[in-house]
Amino acid sequence: MAYTVAHFINGRLLASAEKQLPLFNPATGDTIGHVLAANGKIVNSAIDAAKVAFQTWSTTTPVQRAKILFRYKELIEKNLESLATLITQEHGKTIAEAMGSIQRGLEVVDYACGIPNHLKSNFTESVAAGIDSYSLHQPLGVCVGITPFNFPAMIGLWMFPMAISCGNTFVWKPSEKDPSCSIRLAELAKEAGLPDGVLNVVQGDKETVDALLIHPDVKAISFVGSSFVAEHVYKTAMTNGKRVQAFGGAKNHCIVMPDADLEQTTDAIVTSAYGSAGERCMAISVVVTVGDDVADTLISKMKKKIADLKVGPGTVADVDVGPLITQAHWERVKSYIEIGKKEGATLLIDGSEYKPEKYAAGFFMGASLFDHVTPNMRIYQDEIFGPVLSIVRVKDFDSALKLVNEHEYGNGTAIFTRDGYIAKQFADKVQAGMVGINVPVPVPAAYHSFGGWKRSIFSDIGMYGMEAIRFYTRLKTVTQRWFPRTLA
Ligand code: NAD
Repeated sequence: MAYTVAHFINGRLLASAEKQLPLFNPATGDTIGHVLAANGKIVNSAIDAAKVAFQTWSTTTPVQRAKILFRYKELIEKNLESLATLITQEHGKTIAEAMGSIQRGLEVVDYACGIPNHLKSNFTESVAAGIDSYSLHQPLGVCVGITPFNFPAMIGLWMFPMAISCGNTFVWKPSEKDPSCSIRLAELAKEAGLPDGVLNVVQGDKETVDALLIHPDVKAISFVGSSFVAEHVYKTAMTNGKRVQAFGGAKNHCIVMPDADLEQTTDAIVTSAYGSAGERCMAISVVVTVGDDVADTLISKMKKKIADLKVGPGTVADVDVGPLITQAHWERVKSYIEIGKKEGATLLIDGSEYKPEKYAAGFFMGASLFDHVTPNMRIYQDEIFGPVLSIVRVKDFDSALKLVNEHEYGNGTAIFTRDGYIAKQFADKVQAGMVGINVPVPVPAAYHSFGGWKRSIFSDIGMYGMEAIRFYTRLKTVTQRWFPRTLA
């Protein structure tokens, strides 16, 4: 039955008569519901609720906040399957992928539960005779999170648990393409004991985002999405006096050296490139092979693995790859396959027209593989964000490294080799924020931090881990001296 996804403001669902945007089931192509799109008035009411809640929430102790987060973690664990089902219904990825992504978000909730420890300050005795100094990490106020479609739960969970654990209140604007689980996550936070107004959700699109970026009561903005929008968010929010971190797109290279374990490398590349239909900012989208022998052997192994990938609806148990998010995105990815052919790359596998039986109207696309891709081609330069992998052949490690370093994106990268010296050279010299050595592009654990380089990030503070404490608090340094009280 068709449904409407509303906002969640001050602890309550809020439906209003503004613009509505359609929601699709990507496996069938059917319109399954609508999501409201907040105008300026709704945005103001969410920010007002967060501003009022901040007065009390910011005075709670870190231990009180941690207790709520512990209960929240348990509630998400209990509701894991139903949350994953919501994700699969609107995003299309498999239930296993959806559950895995929520788990990665939960790791950040886990980390946020340690907030009493994370907020512990430094104290220096005797910075001068009789004078001590200590630092305080104080909350900012109302913080905003704007998230992309590809991880509808995880990326929100990277942001708001850290923000609220630091004593801030939060307004979340999820993607308009798969908004349902944002509401469920907000309801569960309320059930865990989070006071009304501390976490609010406004649904919407560009108009909603723009109202958030210029609102005078918003103190900080966390954004994840494409680089074009990330740059707009960064510039607008900065101009309006906000602290901002904006994470953008990617073109993640994986270098394969002649001494790599090619069996393990093939598994890693195929899973990373085609999992979640390539709609991951950490997907490998370029393989740089060092030497033609490696390229030829790798390709023959990859062909077999790709042939085994099962593309179909994410709700079916043995499916590996679900559909793309929308028909418009399908057409965009398809256009890149045509561009690659015209540019002269060799299309070894063309999965673009594949449709599983009985799902002809779904936004499905099988895996595609290009060989002999060169740096001047658009399929090499642009983020395609679909199940399309390019192979670039080079002669030696230095040429491979140069290629990675000259690309405009620098989110993640990986190398496969048995040579420790080469691996260390790579880790030291590569221009990217997250580096894998014999593991595909890795999303760092919650107690490290996430963040790319170059056009994959605007600002220089990472997401979650100790970087989040830095982002969601303001430093105050107190220098104190006490004199003996003299009684009159
Ligand atoms: P997107 O940039 O289209 O949308 C992201 C968010 O911005 C959404 O909430 C959307 O409503 C809003 N938005 C869209 N257009 C806007 C505009 N013109 N002005 C203001 N707001 C706007 O991204 P997407 O298609 O949802 O997600 C895919 C992109 O996200 C890819 O480029 C991917 O690499 C990137 N991504 C990056 C990371 C990372 O951590 N670096 C993680 C996940 C996804």
